[in-house]
Amino acid sequence: MKHDVIIIGGGVSGTALLYSLTRYTNVKHIGLIEKYAALGAVNSSHKMNSQTLHFGDIETNYTLEKANKVKRYADMVMNYLENEKAVRGDEGLFIKVPKMVLAVGKEQVRTLQERYLAFSKLFPRLNIIGREEIGQMEPRILDGRDPDQELLALMTQDGYTVDFGKLCYSFVNNAKKINPELSVYLSTKVEKIEKQGDGFIILTNTGVFEAKAVVVAAGSHSLKFAKSLGYGKNYSILSMAGSFYTGPKVLNGKVYTMQVPKLPFAAVHGDPEVHDENITRFGPTAKPIFFLERYNYSTFTEYWKTFGFSIKPILSIIKISSDRVIFNYLLRNVVYDIPWFGKRSFLKEVRKIVPNVKHGEIKFARKVGGTRPQIINNSTKKLELGEAKIVGDRIIFNITPSPGASTCLGNAFEDTMKLMDYLSGSFTFDRDRFERELVERKTVLTSVR
Ligand SMILES: Cc1cc2nc3c(=O)[nH]c(=O)nc-3n(C[C@H](O)[C@H](O)[C@H](O)COP(=O)(O)OP(=O)(O)OC[C@H]3O[C@@H](n4cnc5c(N)ncnc54)[C@H](O)[C@@H]3O)c2cc1C
Repeated sequence: MKHDVIIIGGGVSGTALLYSLTRYTNVKHIGLIEKYAALGAVNSSHKMNSQTLHFGDIETNYTLEKANKVKRYADMVMNYLENEKAVRGDEGLFIKVPKMVLAVGKEQVRTLQERYLAFSKLFPRLNIIGREEIGQMEPRILDGRDPDQELLALMTQDGYTVDFGKLCYSFVNNAKKINPELSVYLSTKVEKIEKQGDGFIILTNTGVFEAKAVVVAAGSHSLKFAKSLGYGKNYSILSMAGSFYTGPKVLNGKVYTMQVPKLPFAAVHGDPEVHDENITRFGPTAKPIFFLERYNYSTFTEYWKTFGFSIKPILSIIKISSDRVIFNYLLRNVVYDIPWFGKRSFLKEVRKIVPNVKHGEIKFARKVGGTRPQIINNSTKKLELGEAKIVGDRIIFNITPSPGASTCLGNAFEDTMKLMDYLSGSFTFDRDRFERELVERKTVLTSVR
């Protein structure tokens, strides 16, 4: 089967690219290959992530520079979602709730005040609120809290909680309406990619595919394929599983806590469930595991192949975990998953948000939470934050830890531009239309074409 472009991976990254290519370019022969029978079944599933469209306004682990980039990309998803709702009505793709980041104590309050000064230009709808307003929005933040504790929050009404798994289907269904000739191959596992002449041969369990250009959007598996073709040799993956605890509706919206400097993972937050606002989810935790996919034990060997059998990644791990803050954090997070002890220990984190939460109110969410492929750079022996894109000759590999779902369309935009180069000017990308519809939302789409 011959294609101009093949996308490997039917998560939110791969399907967003499929949408971008069909709506904004004239490439006709596109194939998307997914190993499972369903789209969005791994990290993009609503069960596996925090369901948050991250803009960078309440995520205190983002610098202004990062927030600038993430906001542009998250705006694309927001505009797509709002448009879908306007055209098709509520299809359960997302809910909108208020959101805030809460500072507790003198030092955090001062840090948040400074942050507001720096970030309010980029996020004009962000408000700074004190104890009284916090209590009006989220009464359980004040219940049982020391009245002398200093509190401050940055809040907005624009909290998007998204079912990114469902979003995959939305992208594919819209793409199919535009180009009925595109092919989506489910239950098709890519076993090997080989370079052949100017293109690629893709060997799968169901047959052989040919493509002029390839984008691998297979989460942590992308690095495995990159290495098999000689790219990304200097990288390894630290697979950080995230678990959640759930309880009844103790919060009305999203409540984030302040990031501990140095830690590359989001601090614990409380969020309403996308399909049931009467459930509040707390998490995610961050525990290293030796699998490329959570709950898929057959990915153990693949994990080590991707990690690399040499002294370099081991030295990197030793260097990273020798930092006392990181080591203690990892240790605490391993405990959170242990029955009995875990819940007692995690309650301390939840009580930073809801001080009087009772032991019986929350429970460990079984089989909920995926794993984030954090990139280890074995040259610097450091963790690289954010997504990694390895660009090869007519092939791109995307490795997507958080906030990879929020940036799916931005990533698709970048890949679409590169693909136009790869395909030697035979096709065109209507970049202005992309910007108009998804960045500025000047054109409200009334139908798919
Ligand atoms: C605990 C946790 C919380 C998170 N919270 C957020 C959040 O709130 N907001 C946010 O934006 N991001 C969040 N993320 C990150 C987000 O979930 C991911 O970045 C995003 O889902 C990645 O999408 P993807 O399509 O790149 O990967 P995936 O959704 O993992 O999709 C990859 C696809 O490739 C397929 N595949 C793999 N190997 C093969 C093969 N050999 N052949 C064919 N197909 C293959 C897989 O089956 C899968 O369907 C979170 C992640 C975790 C783990």
